[in-house]
Amino acid sequence: MASPAQKRVNVVVSRLIPPVLLGVVIYASYAVTKPLCIDYLIHPLPSYNRGPRVGAGAAIIAIYYVLLIPMVVSYLQLYYQVMWNPGYLPLGEQKVADDENAKQLKRHRGKKRARKPDPEKTNQADADVERGLKSTAVGTAFQSDFGLESFYTRDVFVCQEDGRPHWCTTCCQYKTDRAHHCRELGRCVRKMDHFCPWVGGVVSETSFKFFIQFVAYTCIFCTFALIVSAYFTGEIRRQTGGVNPHWCVCIGLSGLFAFFAAGMTLSSVQMGIFNITTIENLNRRTAVWTLAIRVPEYLLDRLWAAESPWAPTYRMVSYPIQAPSSPTQPQTTNPSPGERHVFAILHTLPGENPFDLGSPLKNLQQVMGYTVFDWLLPIKHSPCADHSSMESHFALGPVVTRLRQEAGLAPPPENGAAVPRSPHSGQSHREKSPSEQ
Ligand SMILES: [Zn+2]
Repeated sequence: MASPAQKRVNVVVSRLIPPVLLGVVIYASYAVTKPLCIDYLIHPLPSYNRGPRVGAGAAIIAIYYVLLIPMVVSYLQLYYQVMWNPGYLPLGEQKVADDENAKQLKRHRGKKRARKPDPEKTNQADADVERGLKSTAVGTAFQSDFGLESFYTRDVFVCQEDGRPHWCTTCCQYKTDRAHHCRELGRCVRKMDHFCPWVGGVVSETSFKFFIQFVAYTCIFCTFALIVSAYFTGEIRRQTGGVNPHWCVCIGLSGLFAFFAAGMTLSSVQMGIFNITTIENLNRRTAVWTLAIRVPEYLLDRLWAAESPWAPTYRMVSYPIQAPSSPTQPQTTNPSPGERHVFAILHTLPGENPFDLGSPLKNLQQVMGYTVFDWLLPIKHSPCADHSSMESHFALGPVVTRLRQEAGLAPPPENGAAVPRSPHSGQSHREKSPSEQ
């Protein structure tokens, strides 16, 4: 658990690294352009005692800067998203009111009376949101049902055992699916991947694609700089017995960054292939997801029919919020069809990922996009950052289809045909909505 001092150190370090990276790139560009290409290949200094190789020098300069451009552009896009579009969830009303009260206290009592956060409370909050534990009985903050509409108007959302979405005790807000509370920044972030000191902030659904592009382009760029500087260092050593110090520094820097960037590229692509975040990966093999899955209207009519022998085998929750029911305590009320939103509370098996779309390509497309240009150019946002579907906050895979079938919430596939509903079939439940029947 990061202490407040550690958090401050993390933030300060993250602010320092970007200018350091900029300095490294400027120095490497100088080392390759001047001492290597100009002073050794294009117009060799007299001390080298050899003829010019203009073609080789020009080609190396051209390739170097062509590779530098996508790295720099993807970094700028990544930096922009992390700084100005980080994907924060809005703060809850209670949190906004508390912050405003704290500001007023500061104004009236001066800096010495400024409220310090209670470390015990902060740690409890962190523990809640980090581990996804049930967040019950957290004072008045939990009582608010504000914001639940954005959950129960969809077909599926991640929930706790009582059918409510997870609650962040620090932000006083319900966490949308896959949102995570960032301790360094004190905010919940949509599909947070990790806190990245390279860019000084949180890599999330708005920036993960650009992060992958940046580390991949960095890996290619550094590998090229490493090969060029190592090749000519070997050549000059064979011919003169000496080395150029700038080239040696370039070998060290490019080798180091190529190594790290390759590792980050591989691990990030792996996350994309599995459709998980770095945080979700921590307990990927044991995690059990609890999902609220909408019970279709035709089943509700059967359930609440007079003297119905039919009883569900799962817990249910009704929205607008009511007490959860169970098979032994069936729901007895029958709210008006236009207003009822009834969900079955179902669990995945340990290690199952409801957001895994069933193929590495489909999963990667959720991050990188659907065309070659989307994959290569740091322009468009990831498809997974679009939450307009009324099916769920994120596209859902075969695990949810299976859960639906096992619970009798969806017709079984006919003749072995797979998946009756597409991941974004947002209109499907609306076709059966009471208001349209
Ligand atoms: Zn939060």
